[in-house]
Amino acid sequence: AVYQTSLQIENLNGLDKKYYLHPTTVPKKFIEEGPKITFHKGDGVYVTDVKDDTYIDGVSMLWNVNLGHGQKELAKAAYEQMNTLAYSSSFYGYSNEKAVRLAEKVVSLAPGDLSAVFFTSGGSESNDTAFKLARFYWHLNGRKNKKKIISINRSYHGATIAAGSATGIDAFHNFAGSKDIDIIQAKSHLTNCELGDKSDPNYEGCIRDIIEKEGAESIAAIIVEPVQGAGGIHISPEGYLRAVKDLCEENEILMISDEVICGFGRTGKMFGIDNWEVVPDIMSVAKGITSGYAQLGGVLINKDIRDTVIQYDQILGHGFTYSGHPTACAVGLKNIEILERDNILNNVNNMEKELMKGFDYLSDKHPHVAKTRTLGLLAGFDLQADRDTDKPFDESIRAASFIVEECFKRKLILRAADFEKGKNIVAIAPPLIVNKEEIEE
Ligand code: PLP
Repeated sequence: AVYQTSLQIENLNGLDKKYYLHPTTVPKKFIEEGPKITFHKGDGVYVTDVKDDTYIDGVSMLWNVNLGHGQKELAKAAYEQMNTLAYSSSFYGYSNEKAVRLAEKVVSLAPGDLSAVFFTSGGSESNDTAFKLARFYWHLNGRKNKKKIISINRSYHGATIAAGSATGIDAFHNFAGSKDIDIIQAKSHLTNCELGDKSDPNYEGCIRDIIEKEGAESIAAIIVEPVQGAGGIHISPEGYLRAVKDLCEENEILMISDEVICGFGRTGKMFGIDNWEVVPDIMSVAKGITSGYAQLGGVLINKDIRDTVIQYDQILGHGFTYSGHPTACAVGLKNIEILERDNILNNVNNMEKELMKGFDYLSDKHPHVAKTRTLGLLAGFDLQADRDTDKPFDESIRAASFIVEECFKRKLILRAADFEKGKNIVAIAPPLIVNKEEIEE
């Protein structure tokens, strides 16, 4: 163990409580209890803490460590790039080789006519950038009122003010000022309504209804996750993304696919939306682009948006110090090289079947396990009081948190998606390199 004595660990925990304000953590509980776990090292699907206890990382940390922990080739790519040129700016016309090569590579993998990429340092920055680019596109086309963004209930798009406002989970709006901009939330996954079925009792508040009420002339873009992650592993129903895309085309609204979780193989295709063969106008990526080994995100734009933006003859006043970071881009390039070389998508599709076998077993044995689902290795299930009647647990029963806690005691890290009142969803998303024995374990 790194820390030989409990005194040393207590000391570290004391410093943690005193100096480190943690993201997405209950502050009061943290101060009372200290860190749940302090990670020290990782290897494949396993992570080990400072006490030398080893866990299975069943959610790839924040669904991002796709090639697993301790991947030496990614470490080497970062080391070599840092020794050559750790950092350089991409502002004012400056460039670097790794950013250029990664841009070309990502565009070559992307569907349809997605043609260029703007780099960021993560998913929230990508979504904020996507909103700005969408508005800017309409602005340059003389449609200055097209500014509103529609997002979907239960979605997660990030924590900056714009991406946080687009997020459709209330728990992320209680942090001061986190829902300030002009974003309208639509109900989720109502394929029939989006196709125009006004007799559907859920029609009010669907995307189509919002467009009719607000007027297409005021709306810049609609953002969707092909599979909603943090909101509870909700896979877009058949026909839904196509219906949204058609609605966008009908009304001259841009479609943004948030591929921050789904991108780079998580769902068994290179991008989540590829499962439905729909081509968005804008796509945001992050997480899986480097498997979490470096902070990197990007926004892909289609040919029309690119052709419009490149006509602009003043400074494009948007960018981040770490846009096109050479070390992050070197890691991204190596990450994609390994994804392709080792045929990781194939493994994802095979392991999806193994995971489903486990789910079938669980559903057979356990009367509370309902709605088991996975797309690639983005999986989840509901816990219900009575699955035959779709009856949820009483709101006081935090069944998903309970199960996740019990798994943790048995050295398996999972995630509860129980932000929605009365919903108890357990999320599973192991690294994409997971093997059959590890899934069984
Ligand atoms: N979009 C989706 C779908 C996400 O799951 C996340 C993070 O979990 C984000 C955006 C935000 O990314 P980041 O935390 O890198 O800013």
